[in-house]
Amino acid sequence: MNVLVINCGSSSLKYQLINSDTEAVLAKGLCERIGIDGRLVYQLAGGEKEITESPMPTHKEAIQMVLDALVNEKTGAVKSLSEIDAVGHRVVHGGEKFASSVVLTPEVLAQIEECNELAPLHNPANLIGIHACQELMPGVPMVGVFDTAFHQTMPKKAYLYGLPYEYYEKYKVRRYGFHGTSHSFVSKRTIEFLGLDKNNSKVIVAHLGNGASISAVLNGECVDTSMGLTPLEGLVMGTRSGDIDPAIMEYIAKKENLDIDGVMNVLNKKSGVEGLSGVSSDFRDLEDAYNEGNQRAIDACEVFAYRVAKYIGSYVAAMNGVDAIAFTAGIGENTQFIREKIVAYLGYLGVTLDKEANKVRGEDKIISTPDSKVTVCVIPTNEELAIARETVALV
Ligand code: AMP
Repeated sequence: MNVLVINCGSSSLKYQLINSDTEAVLAKGLCERIGIDGRLVYQLAGGEKEITESPMPTHKEAIQMVLDALVNEKTGAVKSLSEIDAVGHRVVHGGEKFASSVVLTPEVLAQIEECNELAPLHNPANLIGIHACQELMPGVPMVGVFDTAFHQTMPKKAYLYGLPYEYYEKYKVRRYGFHGTSHSFVSKRTIEFLGLDKNNSKVIVAHLGNGASISAVLNGECVDTSMGLTPLEGLVMGTRSGDIDPAIMEYIAKKENLDIDGVMNVLNKKSGVEGLSGVSSDFRDLEDAYNEGNQRAIDACEVFAYRVAKYIGSYVAAMNGVDAIAFTAGIGENTQFIREKIVAYLGYLGVTLDKEANKVRGEDKIISTPDSKVTVCVIPTNEELAIARETVALV
């Protein structure tokens, strides 16, 4: 079965065509600058990247271009659209309505629309992509896979904020968590890779990418995660602040003469390791600056690693122990010195790092020593494959 995986943003769209039997990626790429001018990047498995500039006034034209590329006589991945059996769509926010993936029916789409308020930048874009696909591929079954769904097993004590209860009742203000597809994929893979008994397992997943979050997974189910109502809470990220004293918002608003949108813009786009270092949000640049002795880059890396270590400690408390800690996503999979800094805080857990193994990039690998009391590993995430698997399971 061939599954087209679509991840739609407000002006971009990422896609992969996956053969679910072999789990091979047949073709992948993205559309950028939708609604501005338009650029399609297409790559057939084993082939070169092809870039086509072409107007994409809406997501519909973008998806049409993707479909045309996929069936192109010379470089296409399939002969005709009839060879695409299903489409899996990433949907950012499923609120409390969706604890698992669903087949997209008109009723489901209406329910997703009700969650738009909770993710105004993301959900409307996801829905536009779904509607465009439905128009261009009538009759092809489509599935929605939610970033929030995996975290719906959190107990109330983990998802309620210390706010007036009526905000939860009236406005659904609570912790939802994000990156759920990744946390689900990586926690399952960790259990499988290490041969743990799922029903008796305590796993912490640190998804460290430009957006970063961490989750506590007890017996295969999420019991806590660091992102909240929105992806702003928790770890210090590329440009997001993560946890701060909420009173800072008022203080900065007054000092800098900013309104609430201005303050939110600072917290989302001008903070994190970029704001701290003044260098970059990218850890490749930060590592170079760190090695050159740039003090602000050093501080940014220390703050980043310390925050992750503190969260790991709190999730060990939440689960009354931990069997395995898995690093994933861009930084988690590639950045040796950050993993080393984080693991250095975990001596109290009896963790010892295997420095040679920690040189790993992008493959499943244990990076703790055999006598380490907790196993630390790198497990590459694959959200597209996870979406394809969920899609196949439902159609
Ligand atoms: P993600 O959001 O998962 O794509 O992660 C993006 C971040 O991962 C980048 O901003 C980098 O800081 C980091 N990253 C990605 N690839 C590498 C690499 N090869 N070496 C070091 N850091 C990397």
